[in-house]
Amino acid sequence: MLKLAIQKSGRLHEDSMNLLRECGIAISNGGNKLKTEASNFPLQVFFLRDDDIPQYVEDGVADMGIVGENVVYEKDRSVKIVEQLGFGSCRLSIAVVRGEQYNDIQSLEGKRIATSYPFLTRQHLEKNKVNADIHEISGSVEIAPGIGLSDAICDLVSSGSTLLTNGLKEVETILYSQAVLIRNKALDAAQQEILDKLLFRIHAVKKANNNKYILLNAPNDKLQEIIGLLPGMKSPTVLPLAEEGWSSVHSVLSEDEFWDKIERLKAAGAQGILVVPIEKMVM
Ligand code: ATP
Ligand code: ZN
Repeated sequence: MLKLAIQKSGRLHEDSMNLLRECGIAISNGGNKLKTEASNFPLQVFFLRDDDIPQYVEDGVADMGIVGENVVYEKDRSVKIVEQLGFGSCRLSIAVVRGEQYNDIQSLEGKRIATSYPFLTRQHLEKNKVNADIHEISGSVEIAPGIGLSDAICDLVSSGSTLLTNGLKEVETILYSQAVLIRNKALDAAQQEILDKLLFRIHAVKKANNNKYILLNAPNDKLQEIIGLLPGMKSPTVLPLAEEGWSSVHSVLSEDEFWDKIERLKAAGAQGILVVPIEKMVM
């Protein structure tokens, strides 16, 4: 049995639950429960505050956890990052009042900075030999300059709209973060085996999410050119169509080259292009 800690509620909760679901692991949301057990996988899931997860994983109360890299590095616990999960993307940034003059990080010398990330903020300032006064606050950091508590803040940003509405501008990025799977450093062989099984499934899910299945019709005289544009897992599948002189081509395209490839396939004479999501992908 492996114990996995995930966020009880908040920005990472839904995506963590979805990932487990996509891995075919059936767990009930638990309502207000602290923990629940999967019915078809040797996994126990703990629902915790994200801030506590690194410590629980270090202590072995949980064997693994899903948490933002920002929290892992801030808490500075002795745990191992196993896998980046591709959700919960954000950055930890310093922001100042919009009208203020800001040249470089030296502009923060002697200033008061409010943050929920004192460790990472201090580390970044020390690295740049800047002396500033760090005020640790636990929430609503973005209002600190407005109420006269600080001159600047260091906080998580995704779109930047919160900064904007609070009259702040982002001036330094300390860290880019996403959700990661962390593990205790000393798992026994049986636990390691379950973790490997889980990772195998996570890889298949991540791969599938990054790829699309594509079907198209191609005139036979354009087939070579069209096949040349498609990677496929081994090579594309080519099947003759009922209509003389045409073939159906099936392949897999990655998300990042998707639009570019579609345009080039059309230009090369492909027709009836159909794109479908992939559920799982095992190489
Ligand atoms: P908890 O009650 O578990 O302590 P929290 O309020 O500390 O929750 P959330 O706001 O739910 O935490 O954020 C959880 C994680 O989501 C963050 O640590 C970060 O990794 C990620 N995240 C992604 N985008 C953002 C964002 N714009 N602001 C804050 N966190 C973000
Ligand atoms: Zn938190």
